[in-house]
Amino acid sequence: MASKSSRTPSRPAAAEATGPANPPRERLRAYRSKRDFGVTPEPSGDETSERPVASPTATGRFVVQRHRATALHYDFRLEVDGVLASWAVPRGPTLDPGQRRLAVRVEDHPLGYFAFEGVIPAHEYGGGDVIVWDWGTYRASDDTPDAAQAVDAGEFKFELDGEKLHGAFVLVRTAGFGRYRGRPDGSRAKWLLIHRRDDDAVPGWDAEDEPYSVKSGRTNDEVATRRRGRPTARRL
Ligand code: MN
Repeated sequence: MASKSSRTPSRPAAAEATGPANPPRERLRAYRSKRDFGVTPEPSGDETSERPVASPTATGRFVVQRHRATALHYDFRLEVDGVLASWAVPRGPTLDPGQRRLAVRVEDHPLGYFAFEGVIPAHEYGGGDVIVWDWGTYRASDDTPDAAQAVDAGEFKFELDGEKLHGAFVLVRTAGFGRYRGRPDGSRAKWLLIHRRDDDAVPGWDAEDEPYSVKSGRTNDEVATRRRGRPTARRL
């Protein structure tokens, strides 16, 4: 599917390496550099189609993966401009509008990561088990109709239509100081993921109460166990 598209930049070149003017192949450089695809079952991103983006990205898929690595976190990913823009959310997304969830921007992931579920070997980057905790589609709100531009600007409002997550959310980058501002490519920056007050809001809702994969119905434990064929005392 990797067609050689002559992409017409619709926006001025951004200062950030992850900016919308960069094709997916460029944006996945950090992702690839951290992984040995001969060892990890994660996708290499070779399948990324550099589809021309003639109009702003207003809709796309989203996925949330529950990832038990060194520390448990949920990876929140939005399909934007041919990659999955990604944030690590330690406590997971919530429908509770009274909760602000820390979301640390991490490197863009390839679209092939959308359905990834499995075990990353312990000594690899991100070693641990991954389930597809939720998936579906998003729609940019009228306030921020261009997803790529909004993410670059540090505030994106959108609605999710997933199996667990529904309704209006906002991702907003915090001002931050020093290292909390993140790296030049935008990674490590601290954001907040917040459910806005609407009919889908549920006070007290917690991601940990919804432990099953929407792809396979398995828990992280079951994914980890099946791979090894027996119960495990693996350190997490
Ligand atoms: Mn992760």
